[in-house]
Amino acid sequence: MPGVVIIGGGISGLSAAYYLARGGVGSTILESRPRLGGVIQTERVEGCTIEAGPDSFLSAKPAALELIGELGLADQVIGSNDRLRVTYVRKGGRLLPLPDGLMMMVPTKILPLLTTGLLGWRTKFRMGMELLRAPQPKPGDESVADFIQEHYGAEAVDYLAEPLLSGIYGGDPSQLSVTSVLPRFVELANQYGSLTRGVLAARARAGRNRNPAPLFRTLKGGLGQLVDAIAGAIGGKVEVRQCRAQTIQRAEAGFRIKLDDGGWLEADHVVLACEAHNGAALLGGVDGRLAELLGSVPYSSSMTVALGFDAADFARPPHGFGFLVPKKERRRLVACTWVGTKFSYRVPEGKVVARCFLGGMEDAGVLGESDEAVVAAVVRELQEIAGFTARPRFTRIARWPRSMAQYTVGHAQRMAEIQARTPPAGGLHLAGNAYEGIGIPDCIRMGRQAAARILGTRPEVSA
Ligand SMILES: Cc1cc2nc3c(=O)[nH]c(=O)nc-3n(C[C@H](O)[C@H](O)[C@H](O)COP(=O)(O)OP(=O)(O)OC[C@H]3O[C@@H](n4cnc5c(N)ncnc54)[C@H](O)[C@@H]3O)c2cc1C
Repeated sequence: MPGVVIIGGGISGLSAAYYLARGGVGSTILESRPRLGGVIQTERVEGCTIEAGPDSFLSAKPAALELIGELGLADQVIGSNDRLRVTYVRKGGRLLPLPDGLMMMVPTKILPLLTTGLLGWRTKFRMGMELLRAPQPKPGDESVADFIQEHYGAEAVDYLAEPLLSGIYGGDPSQLSVTSVLPRFVELANQYGSLTRGVLAARARAGRNRNPAPLFRTLKGGLGQLVDAIAGAIGGKVEVRQCRAQTIQRAEAGFRIKLDDGGWLEADHVVLACEAHNGAALLGGVDGRLAELLGSVPYSSSMTVALGFDAADFARPPHGFGFLVPKKERRRLVACTWVGTKFSYRVPEGKVVARCFLGGMEDAGVLGESDEAVVAAVVRELQEIAGFTARPRFTRIARWPRSMAQYTVGHAQRMAEIQARTPPAGGLHLAGNAYEGIGIPDCIRMGRQAAARILGTRPEVSA
């Protein structure tokens, strides 16, 4: 039996441990925090379910739902309340709804595009004319901003792409790689010329579904339920040690890992399921070039601030899922979700919960500010943007320094080199949001694939 050490007890490392255990192989998880889950952390406050990190996952990618099913949690899955789904964008001091029919930043309906106040006539005309664009395949990579600007113009970057990607990645579209972040759009644009025509054709091929599945899924009790269920399922087969791995060295057969409590562990296989920059710090003695490559993956830092209110303090209940603040209009707030509207079971009658996002590539400094200063700034800005005077009854702040990897231009090339340096037989395996997808389903898939490599079986999960 191979001895396996997994560094990092977030969802990537937990998934690797779970699928190894299912294949009959035990492992040891090293986690420097005093709890499992990494950035997944759920808390109950005054009857509200508060997510400090992620709150849901995309239903289109199967790995999360497959794992949830295996853990016996299928009856706990809920979808986002998509009939209430309106997302607003701040423009000129007002909140304007994203036009109906947008697929990310691609318009698929004419009337909402014509009538939206979010874009000027010049941009609307340009987006309409984009339908006539002939294929102009481009070799290589470019930024998301350049790609969207070429198709739809600069205003579509500023008021659609930038706020949407800041909300998902805490990222800057002028740095993010279009081939890594929006690969399907690149394929469609190469094939059809017009991105809009490509998206419409792909939708027509998939067949019109009058009751599409909810875009986002989560668990009734929050994503912490998933972490607890994995921990329960692997208990007895996996040793969890709260300690920090300090360095990895090659041993005669396999590896030696130095721990911050002074001890050493031996392993035939190591799964690096920590952030790439932390992995880089461990690998210098094993493979200097690999350490350099992992260290070159940029990360953004973010902060979530949950504010709980009495609904009675609002003249009218907040409308829609929430809002995004484009960089051009931003002070501190990047985005805000009205939790009780987006998901059922999260906020009891009589309460309103706002979940605000701060930080990102532009404002990592906010993580260094005091809780009092952050709450004061967030309450002031939220009241002004959403137009209310209610004061929060409770607040919860979570800081996530350098937690969200950024797939910058050239990421695919970097990945190819990383993969070439970590062949399955080499004993070193990578899983985590720095590599092939930042979302929870991707992290679960990578953890599962690392386990499959170790078990010597083919990965069964689809990408
Ligand atoms: C605020 C926020 C909101 C998000 N929202 C969503 C969302 O709604 N939907 C979605 O799909 N995704 C979302 N994401 C992304 C997704 O949650 C993450 O990409 C994913 O959970 C990362 O899991 P991971 O296990 O790879 O890494 P992490 O969760 O970062 O876990 C890595 C672990 O490694 C540990 N570690 C690091 N170095 C060492 C060491 N040397 N020794 C021991 N332990 C170490 C760390 O303490 C950490 O616990 C969000 C991310 C953030 C930060």
